Amino acid sequence: MQTFIYLDNSATTQPSEPVIQAVEHAMRESWFNPSALYKPSMETQKEVEAVRRTVLHAAGADNDSLVFTSCGTEADNLAVLGHLKTRRSSGRVLIFAGEHPAVSACTQAIERLGYTVETIAAGPDGCADLEQLEKQLDSTVAMIVIMQVNNESGAIQPLQEICAMRDRLAPSAAIHVDGVQGFLRVPIQFHRLGIQSYALSGHKIHALKGIGALIFRKDHKIASIGYGGGQENGLRSGTENTVGILSLGAAVEHYPAHGAEWMMERKRQLWAGISNAIPEAKLNGPQLDSPACCPHILNVSLMPVRSQTMLFALEGDGIFVSAGSACASHKQKISPVLSSMGLSTQQADSALRFSLSPQTSEEDIDFTIERVRVHYQMLKAYTRR
Ligand code: PLP
Repeated sequence: MQTFIYLDNSATTQPSEPVIQAVEHAMRESWFNPSALYKPSMETQKEVEAVRRTVLHAAGADNDSLVFTSCGTEADNLAVLGHLKTRRSSGRVLIFAGEHPAVSACTQAIERLGYTVETIAAGPDGCADLEQLEKQLDSTVAMIVIMQVNNESGAIQPLQEICAMRDRLAPSAAIHVDGVQGFLRVPIQFHRLGIQSYALSGHKIHALKGIGALIFRKDHKIASIGYGGGQENGLRSGTENTVGILSLGAAVEHYPAHGAEWMMERKRQLWAGISNAIPEAKLNGPQLDSPACCPHILNVSLMPVRSQTMLFALEGDGIFVSAGSACASHKQKISPVLSSMGLSTQQADSALRFSLSPQTSEEDIDFTIERVRVHYQMLKAYTRR
């Protein structure tokens, strides 16, 4: 029995039971090198190909291509740098202000390839500012990089509108979508949408860490950004991580069909409970009735209590949450994502991120609300600014 409540599922998720079984199977039976020519290797290769089809299908990309990578970060790097390497002309690359470092930290490398990088601004709800974007788009844009769901605010980005604008104003620009926080939790119809590539990561959907994937259209050009044995059609050298790949297949196949609905109900329960108990609580991100509201991430500022103080108080009760995104949480800086939404330093410094999974129960949420309420009443009296 678990003795804690895990509400940090955007940082990573617990491997699900079918994933653990798939891992055991992969380690005991399917550990062969899929490139070898004897029968067990060919069987392993077949299992890898079945996962490729499963993941493509889940993304609405049955007739598109998929390359397995080591994580979401590598899939994003490959999508952006790998594509830009194939374009002869330089031009402008537009990157959303709320991007994860898996994308934003590519800026210098993009500039070294000869492109200039510009930011797509975020509005106060954490969504891309479409009016600004419209002004930025013209035939000099080579690529637009935008996430499906922001990992801190939970804002679902207006991908359809962005694709329509690209078609109208910058038809030769490629669009890459970082789907690491969206895949399986927010619907994606990759092919119908008309984007060129889509990155995802296993450990955010109850598979193992160390496995990710990049989906791309067959006619979309990507060059390898690493060199070696030429696996994955030359796009990602290195012996395939068969254990990770099979774990990804099991995670996708067994992701609960009503997981998103369930999480949305729990998110409503959590926000209703917190905002009733603490009228000072501020929601950072889209309103809950907005189409941009994702089901699994709730970001709340409980001023004047600083995030870390509340985080440690909740940890004392066995409740694990995050103060901003995990990748940034060891750094003492204000989150660039929250600042891009125009939050004051104080509000950003008090931001807590609760991220849910289909396993989050009503009781987990009730207990969390009660503990947040009790700690807030106590801590706000002791917080000096
Ligand atoms: N993109 C987003 C939006 C993320 O939230 C993360 C991780 O938190 C990543 C990319 C990186 O994924 P990975 O940890 O698999 O490299």
